[in-house]
Amino acid sequence: MTVSLPMCAIDFTNDAMGPEEAAIADRITELKEQMGEDLLILGHHYQRDQIVMHADLLGDSFLLSELAAQSDAKNIVFCGVHFMAESADILTSNNQRVILPNMRAGCSMADMAALDEVEIAWEEILSKSGLSDPATAKEGESCLIPVTYMNSAAELKDFCGRHGGIVCTSSNAAGILEWAYERAGPNGAVLFFPDQHLGRNTGLSMGIPLERMSVWTPGEENEIPNDVKIVLWHGFCSVHKRFTVPQIEAFREEHPDGLVVVHPECPMEVVQAADANGSTEFIRRFVAQQEPGTHIAVGTEINMVARLDSQHEDLHIQCLEPTICPCSTMYMIHPAYLMDVLERLADGEVPNQVIVAPEVQEGAKIALERMLSIKQ
Ligand code: SF4
Repeated sequence: MTVSLPMCAIDFTNDAMGPEEAAIADRITELKEQMGEDLLILGHHYQRDQIVMHADLLGDSFLLSELAAQSDAKNIVFCGVHFMAESADILTSNNQRVILPNMRAGCSMADMAALDEVEIAWEEILSKSGLSDPATAKEGESCLIPVTYMNSAAELKDFCGRHGGIVCTSSNAAGILEWAYERAGPNGAVLFFPDQHLGRNTGLSMGIPLERMSVWTPGEENEIPNDVKIVLWHGFCSVHKRFTVPQIEAFREEHPDGLVVVHPECPMEVVQAADANGSTEFIRRFVAQQEPGTHIAVGTEINMVARLDSQHEDLHIQCLEPTICPCSTMYMIHPAYLMDVLERLADGEVPNQVIVAPEVQEGAKIALERMLSIKQ
């Protein structure tokens, strides 16, 4: 099957680069032509333009993994971070291989939840709350359902699969929590990891009060309220936690009719002060719907904001945090690394392949497929 959406439409020419960058871009183009349909390059929205210009498909982490699974390409080069390449490896077939141009490109949020810490928390929360593990619960018992954000290691997705849990993305988190509460029973609860902000913002949007939420920090004494509905892992995104309410106030003072849209990985106060919040795909649609001349402050990664600005010349788009840096781990995918893995693939090597062990794939696939089975 040939994948046809959503193709990357960035217009970025070699004229905008220095001679060394232009030579790398030319060589990547040659190698792509040489490998033809055997190669599929995926680009996450947070990648720099010099990477995105080579991507066959542009999207968020889950969309890209799904589209990779629908393609026939033998070599899938994922220009994103490690957990994304893992998800692509789980969802693609055994004769496809997923390559990450730089193996050091991780995600600081995903690294905040390690399997051994989650296993300790799981046992303690079950014991403190009196809730049951869905994998062993008897009929009628209230349960604790583990829900992991897509931005997590494959081992944690496997944990969720083995304990009756599920994966969510920033665009389907509310629907996934509804699914979890249906299975948890009227007095049941959810353990949500690794991003506390996405969990809290989603819970609030569903009417769960803050008093029925608690934060779990490994290694500390953690209280669990009697009527807890959601236990939030302490993790956060180092990019999205930089957005603040004073930044929104400063923007509104300058542009009283302007709009603020932020990602739900931002802190609760920021999400509540914004006009709208949602996933990267939601932000793209929100921006595209505004009247010409509108000033829009966007609270997400700077490469994506800059690209939105260049794609919408009739709007005034700016990052909510004027001095923000790119996501440092996404930035580790330099064009030179992309060229290097393509050279080696063309020479018959298989560099930087991301392989999820079969025993981990099993549970992770269950948790991912549960998510896919839910109509949003
Ligand atoms: S933007 Fe945040 S969540 Fe996304 S890869 Fe970077 S650190 Fe991880």
